[in-house]
Amino acid sequence: MNRIYNFNAGPSALPLEVLKEIQDSFLNFNNSGMSIVEISHRSKEFESVINGTKEKVTKLFELGSDFEVLFVQGGASMQFAMLPMNLLKAGDSADYVNTGTWSTKAINEIKSQNRKFNVVASSEDSNFSYIPKNIKFSDNAKYVHITTNNTIKGTQWHSLPDTNNIPIVADMSSDIMSYPIDAKKFGLIYAGAQKNLGVPGVCLVIIRKDLLNSIGDDIPVMLNYKTYAQKNSMYNTPPCFSIYVMWLILKWIEEKGGLSAVYQENKQKAEVLYDFIDNSSIYTGTAEKDSRSFMNVTFLLKDKNLEEKFIQEATKNSIGGIKGHRSVGGFRASIYNSTDIEKVKYLVNFMDEFQKKVK
Ligand code: PMP
Repeated sequence: MNRIYNFNAGPSALPLEVLKEIQDSFLNFNNSGMSIVEISHRSKEFESVINGTKEKVTKLFELGSDFEVLFVQGGASMQFAMLPMNLLKAGDSADYVNTGTWSTKAINEIKSQNRKFNVVASSEDSNFSYIPKNIKFSDNAKYVHITTNNTIKGTQWHSLPDTNNIPIVADMSSDIMSYPIDAKKFGLIYAGAQKNLGVPGVCLVIIRKDLLNSIGDDIPVMLNYKTYAQKNSMYNTPPCFSIYVMWLILKWIEEKGGLSAVYQENKQKAEVLYDFIDNSSIYTGTAEKDSRSFMNVTFLLKDKNLEEKFIQEATKNSIGGIKGHRSVGGFRASIYNSTDIEKVKYLVNFMDEFQKKVK
């Protein structure tokens, strides 16, 4: 079967090796005589998967013993609501930086809970085409919320803001495990799995233990991070398959040489594509250069009339998923960890051929 060059934003391409491993073990997981989707979440087999996944997250992110790793359903979107519920007590306030659609949604959730918050910076004035700099944070904020990579607008924080020791709470849904992090700066990290961590159905949450321990009991059980920590994320039936795929993906990252190796490749991939766009005559990037995402490359055709032809030709050439998000239009190539440099070069070659044809 011919697989296409898949640049979808999420759910997105998975490494072929991982898909094959899923296929191989799907009917008989770990010699249990059962599929991974048939085994009990209370079985030894699944226990080794969930614990193995936690260990791999801890090791790859060098979390030490200060953090708890949790698996929560409801996607990253549910985290927008869980964060203020868990991390703020009555009267507490949090700072938010607005860098696009997902940050805006996170802000709308805290607003709907009638809690105190400040939007301390926003790039809305320029259609979210950049990451704000020199931000002044509130002295009394309990946390600072940022979206490390803005999947729709194609911008990314390339260094963390100096928050004066206020813990950063980060939505890393679209760039998690694509570069090494300095865990000390974070109070909480969350990411829906369906981009760099596998398939939908699970949201990875990493929370600093001191923040976890200060959470009250006046929160519904399923919305309280403590429930997940106390029950090894198995208070109820967890999304076993999604966690299993995350485990395979993390193993694949380890085999590639870990996050430094993955980062080098991601940087190189993004440079190849951005360099081509910058030197072309018919394409133009939409994000400001110093804020460009290494994961989601957003661009436009200078002549809008060519858009349909571009998509048609791309499809003919087995390229999929490059239409921009429906809210912004244009184009977006999502080049997550599993998209190797050869696939990016294939896309560049196609874009170059298209340019020669229409010029
Ligand atoms: N945050 C970011 C940065 C995202 O890209 C997305 C989804 N594309 C979300 C949050 C929402 O994630 P979910 O669909 O898992 O709720």
